[in-house]
Amino acid sequence: MQEQLKALEGEARGEIEQAATLEQVEELRVRYLGRKGKLTLILRGMKDLPSDERPLVGKLGNEIRARLEDLLQQRRISLQESLKRERLERERLDVTMPGARPRLGNKHPLTLVLEEIKEIFMGLGFSVVEGPEIETDYYNFEALNLPPNHPARDMQDSFYITEKILLRTHTSPVQARTMERTAPAVPVRIICPGKVYRRDADSTHSPMFHQVEGLVVDRNVTLAHLKGVLTHFAREVFGADRKVRFRPSYFPFTEPSAEVDISCVICGGRGCRVCSHTGWLEILGSGLVHPRVLAMSGYDPDKVSGFAFGMGVERIAMLKYGIDDIRLFFENNLRFLEQFGIG
Ligand SMILES: [Zn+2]
Repeated sequence: MQEQLKALEGEARGEIEQAATLEQVEELRVRYLGRKGKLTLILRGMKDLPSDERPLVGKLGNEIRARLEDLLQQRRISLQESLKRERLERERLDVTMPGARPRLGNKHPLTLVLEEIKEIFMGLGFSVVEGPEIETDYYNFEALNLPPNHPARDMQDSFYITEKILLRTHTSPVQARTMERTAPAVPVRIICPGKVYRRDADSTHSPMFHQVEGLVVDRNVTLAHLKGVLTHFAREVFGADRKVRFRPSYFPFTEPSAEVDISCVICGGRGCRVCSHTGWLEILGSGLVHPRVLAMSGYDPDKVSGFAFGMGVERIAMLKYGIDDIRLFFENNLRFLEQFGIG
């Protein structure tokens, strides 16, 4: 029987050392030491032994039980430790791994151009004034010398909300509002950037677009001031070697009026498709403020004078970046928008 017990211990040791999981360790405990386990079964045969052998076998049985229990416990501990090690290994932070980089956006090309325009005029002492996009007929037309039935109203097909309220067709109403607020004090030196709305849509017209208009009212303002300011502006945006031309034109709110052209950014003035072979590109409209507009806003046209100008931000951006379709600005196509650098 002692031989049987020793053989059992050997067999159990081998199996316990092979156990790969905590569940297997528990299975082995039940198989060898449980109530119906192998050791228990062998010891049950003790009652058939001669009485002088019983204590010896009983002692050996207890020793084997204790040794196997120790062994099972050691196996449990070592399995738990290796589990813990594995988990730590899995969760360890690898600082050399490339991170998830947040995508940086960049400024919209119109924002870039608008910021540049503002900076140039602020450098000349202008301040930036904004006004409502929903405007009354009075400020959008009448205060700018465009009475009802004036033929020039046909130049701007408008989005009317009611008979007397519309989406502004230019930012000029802000000029009228500012003069009204300021008169008779001088000087006024403002630019008015913002969205404007006209019923127009093709590759160079959008029903919503951006304008920057400017206004100076002071004593003794002349056409020379207008030319100086706008020539400086054109050369800041399009390059110092740009030729600038003032061409007589007509606007109801200025007299005299002039379109401002720059030598073509593509051909430099020799003539190409972009400039319709004229060598010139129109960038803005301007003029001396009409005396009637000054009077309507509360100024005395005999004491003060002024000049005004207006430009489309999209047009400036298209010429500056060589963009041939205005709709690209509003399609939100990242392949287009990402070309304009980090803002
Ligand atoms: Zn050209």
